[in-house]
Amino acid sequence: MKTKACFLSVLMSLFGVSSCSSATWTDLDPDEFAKEAFGANTSVIDVRTASEYAEGHLYRAVNIDWQKDGFMDEIKEKFNKAQRLAIYCRSGKRSAAAAAALAEAGYQVINLKEGYMSWTAAGKPVNTYQVEVFNSGDEPVFITLIKHGSLEISFQGCSFQFDPVSGYGKTTDYATQFPKADVILVTHEHGDHLDKNAINALVADLLIDRNHTMILLNAKSQAQLGMGDIISNGQRRILPSHIVLDAVPAYNTTSGREQFHPKGNGNGYVLEFPGGLKIYVAGDTEDVPEMSELKDIDVAFLPVNQPYTMTVDQCVNAAKMINPKVLIPYHFGQTDISALPDHLPDMKVLLRDMQ
Ligand SMILES: [Zn+2]
Repeated sequence: MKTKACFLSVLMSLFGVSSCSSATWTDLDPDEFAKEAFGANTSVIDVRTASEYAEGHLYRAVNIDWQKDGFMDEIKEKFNKAQRLAIYCRSGKRSAAAAAALAEAGYQVINLKEGYMSWTAAGKPVNTYQVEVFNSGDEPVFITLIKHGSLEISFQGCSFQFDPVSGYGKTTDYATQFPKADVILVTHEHGDHLDKNAINALVADLLIDRNHTMILLNAKSQAQLGMGDIISNGQRRILPSHIVLDAVPAYNTTSGREQFHPKGNGNGYVLEFPGGLKIYVAGDTEDVPEMSELKDIDVAFLPVNQPYTMTVDQCVNAAKMINPKVLIPYHFGQTDISALPDHLPDMKVLLRDMQ
């Protein structure tokens, strides 16, 4: 055992990798950090306080406060050591301390030199969207909660955009705040779900970006947009990173409201990741019976605004049919959703800025 450890450390020093006793990390300036931080197998951690993070942060950065107890436990729970950690604070002081501790713990670390201040001074993009991270197998899945019906999922460095919309409440600059999309999914053709400008900003140009954007949408959205591939209720596609996508029904059932979202028109989407994580984005729907056929959902996004989607009671009913591990109410407009956690005591309900 001892010989093996010695051999390993000799091997590591041969290849220039530090052993525990002299753990190191790499300082990068904003341009270098921008190139390195957002690819596959790298997770971006903002080690400042929650209030500093809320004022603005980097794309898909997860907030874990270095100064709080349990920092290392939370890191270890969310990120295994195959994940390189790209970290920053305000000026570089806290992140240098965190980088040393993380390197000591066995992580590969890159640190943004002079922190958020140097990033913004260099004119690099920031945003205020909340980010949640879930694990699929041992790989992180990042969800950026943009607003209302719009969210982005990042997995293995691929970007999956759901119903990207530039306006509606806060303005989203998709051209600068997000990378080009690998996949764009549109649930239906209403203005708070389908926005040509946002989609145009996200579509990759094969010659410049060297990748291709897959656009999947319902038939009416395709007719309005003039591009993309139609996907209908009950159909399945395989997405990049071996994600299995199922389109499921999303429609109104309340008498007199069926015309808002007629049955068969719009889609909800279920994504199953290679490690087994399942995320359900419901689209505009009421608590339709087909929801009871959804199995093993880990994270469910359910809309809560009448007259177009559900009341709080309907959302509770839908959540009980689906039984996800985590419920994130979205598309709720002016609806008061504060009672939802009390109605669902056995479910983790995350109330986020998704009006
Ligand atoms: Zn709608």
